[in-house]
Amino acid sequence: MARRAHRAQKSLGLRDHWPHRPHFLENRVPSLQDSSTAKVGHFINGRLAPLAADSRTSPIYNPATGAVTAQVALAKHTEVDQAVAAAQAAFPAWADTPAIQRARVLFKFWGLLNQHKDELARLITQEHGKVFSDAQGEVTRGIDIVEFACGIPQLLKGDYSEQASTGIDNWTMRQPLGVVAGITPFNFPVMVPCWMFPVAIACGNTFVLKPSPTDPSPSLLMAELLKQAGLPDGVFNVVQGDKAAVDALIEHPDVKALSFVGSTPVAQFIHERGSHFGKRVQALGGAKNHMVIMPDADLDKAVDALVGAAYGSAGERCMAISVAVLVGDVGDQIMPQLIERTRTLKVNDGMDGEAEMGPIVTRAALDRISGCIEDGVRQGAQLLVDGRGLSVPGQDGGFWLGGTLFDHVSPENKLYQEEVFGPVLACVRVADLDQALALINAHEFGNGVACFTRDGHVAREFSRRVQVGMVGINVPIPVPMAWQGFGGWKRSLFGDMHAYGEEGVRFYTRQKSIMQRWPESIAKGNDFIMPTAR
Ligand code: NAD
Repeated sequence: MARRAHRAQKSLGLRDHWPHRPHFLENRVPSLQDSSTAKVGHFINGRLAPLAADSRTSPIYNPATGAVTAQVALAKHTEVDQAVAAAQAAFPAWADTPAIQRARVLFKFWGLLNQHKDELARLITQEHGKVFSDAQGEVTRGIDIVEFACGIPQLLKGDYSEQASTGIDNWTMRQPLGVVAGITPFNFPVMVPCWMFPVAIACGNTFVLKPSPTDPSPSLLMAELLKQAGLPDGVFNVVQGDKAAVDALIEHPDVKALSFVGSTPVAQFIHERGSHFGKRVQALGGAKNHMVIMPDADLDKAVDALVGAAYGSAGERCMAISVAVLVGDVGDQIMPQLIERTRTLKVNDGMDGEAEMGPIVTRAALDRISGCIEDGVRQGAQLLVDGRGLSVPGQDGGFWLGGTLFDHVSPENKLYQEEVFGPVLACVRVADLDQALALINAHEFGNGVACFTRDGHVAREFSRRVQVGMVGINVPIPVPMAWQGFGGWKRSLFGDMHAYGEEGVRFYTRQKSIMQRWPESIAKGNDFIMPTAR
């Protein structure tokens, strides 16, 4: 297997420098000893695209050390055009390939992803910062979607009405759209692209991925594994870049659909702009996820769940819990434990097996989150644990912030209203379930929510009345499984369809209805009236 992988890398012109550098880094870099000048480039038509001498780049950091580990290329309009042209050229043959054969390629990809799971997870940790075991979990959730997409022949079956009218049958089929594009955020560089491309290509589309420039390397490893799995050139392409690349994708007439996951202002922009250009758009945005703890809940278990959901991945999850809604006397009961657990979080390099939380993704994000904490204090919230100024021995350059805990946060406080996207938990006190629901339903975001209780009636009422797309009952981060579909409500999602699951299949296909009859059943003469069933 190793020899086969090596052969495939050779055929791609890739080099294996792992573990010191990802083997797919652009290999025409003058000094291979200086990893800060190595380049992560584009993958177009089955190979790494040569980079123009004047290409713009942006640094990639290891957030645990603060060191620049490579540069990511930022695509120009012409490079996006090349990727779309490759995808457009590959589309007719791929769309014509029987669904079961497309599924077989995905099944091989599934096997390769499993083999390379730790390699992908290591890349995630090195560029994003999250702890290695969490990165492994991310990859696993991505692999689940590939597994779901392997069932595409069943999912594309369509329906059939025999004798819809006398001598006439009517059936529907779902056909691919063409070239579709995915624009993804930094916080899940494997899982979120996997929400999109496995389903899209299983349906017969060809794909252009524009990953986050913050942690772009896993995208190239996935491209390489798809190639090894036998995916024809041009079916999956990667353009690295920033807004310029996104704008080029939005405006390109051959891109038929855009899937976006990221912050709300950009989601809204992409939805509006993409719709203006006549594209199908699903744009998943930001979040402020509440966890309600009722007085009858198992409070020890609720605290365990709260600490993991608030501080796991340094709070940089779209489903992280950032608000705890403490009902009745729950706040008084759990606060000492919550303070202790927040203070004693083990924060370290994500590759350290003991670490519970890694660094913040970038210096800019660290400064922004620190500013949110300052705002929270200024607007009257009670800061019980302050994670600012944390230092980790031997890692002075890292982007460190410890777990931060606020109590008595008012709904008027900016800290409550805005997405912080960091390890900052805001506790709000309310009297009862009705107040908790009113608070949550008034919030502009509606991605995920949780309620911890032992009362079945409370659980039922909460699930029915809450205005949020994904609900957990005693489940703090209710990310739906691969076959269920993922999506928030309100300003957490722009567009109609959720990501992956059957909603994903519907998003990446369009329905065609066919009515058929044969000459033997056609009555003689002209028919000028609206046909009806007879
Ligand atoms: P972001 O919006 O800054 O970037 C997302 C993508 O958009 C990246 O590929 C980026 O290069 C591109 N982009 C950034 N600015 C752009 C602009 N002005 N025009 C066009 N493209 C632009 O988000 P991020 O910081 O990478 O990720 C964190 C955000 O993503 C958080 O708000 C989080 O809640 C959200 N998120 C949401 C979900 C969800 O399912 N709802 C999942 C993961 C992350």
